Amino acid sequence: MKEPRPSLERVVASSEKRKDEIRAATLAEFLAQDAPELVKGEREKTETERAIIALVNEETNALRVKYGLEPLDIPEKIFHVIKKKEWKDKSRGAYEPKLQGIILREGASRLDTAASAFHEAVHFKSYLTLEGVDGRIEERGFGLSVGVGPNRNPRFSEFNEATTEELTIRFVERRKHDPLFADETDRHERHRQALGDKTSDEGKPLLPVDAYHSRVTFKKHGVFIDVERPAYANERRALHAFIDKLYDRNRNDFKDREEVFDLFAKGMFTGKLLVLSRLIEKTFGTGTLRRISEQEGDVAGLEELIAKL
Ligand SMILES: [Zn+2]
Repeated sequence: MKEPRPSLERVVASSEKRKDEIRAATLAEFLAQDAPELVKGEREKTETERAIIALVNEETNALRVKYGLEPLDIPEKIFHVIKKKEWKDKSRGAYEPKLQGIILREGASRLDTAASAFHEAVHFKSYLTLEGVDGRIEERGFGLSVGVGPNRNPRFSEFNEATTEELTIRFVERRKHDPLFADETDRHERHRQALGDKTSDEGKPLLPVDAYHSRVTFKKHGVFIDVERPAYANERRALHAFIDKLYDRNRNDFKDREEVFDLFAKGMFTGKLLVLSRLIEKTFGTGTLRRISEQEGDVAGLEELIAKL
């Protein structure tokens, strides 16, 4: 196996010396894995979690190879499992590019752990550009989020998250019957059969159709159902709408929608965005990318823009 290496493809800086410093700093973080952001609340990984990490490495490497890259193994210690009570927000995981580390909230289930480890591993294995700005190191590009405009802040992060989570959904679908996850998946299927399309008092489905895991608990006050489902629903809806339009208007060039989706995924891993950018501008007109980038941080605005294209 090749020597593990950080995921850093491109460095922008005023001199070769500064570029070398940034590469060395990134390597040091990759090896040390001791930043407070990564280790606060960390606990030992279980055997199951280690098996999940191995599977995630294998599957995300297969994606890199599919899109024309070398495999890039993530050493186990890059994944930090954080105790639930120490976890601050509603997210399930995070990747810190400058620290070259991944934090995962203790999973509610094996599939939950696998889905968040996969999502963050895809981020880790996506194309990263760091830039030296004065004494600091800044992220300039990360998968499909690339720096544009005079201040070069990364944009297109909605498509980046949506593409990452779409790949995660495909991974869960492919692997949910593996021995590691079979019990959870069988139980979930039984819940689905029992609950069917029943709804709550507010009319919401008890088991959303995209849920991949559920837990039913019986308490004094009734039955409680916890579900786990894919993240970034709005961002993914925007991406789907965009891909539908791209496919519809270029049907002669693609055999199906998935081939258009592959352009997004490939661009995210390889950092080569020219084919996708040209397709977008050719289909919807020059300036479309700029208009999309202006919706950064506003998914509703992005969906409105896509609807008008
Ligand atoms: Zn993410």
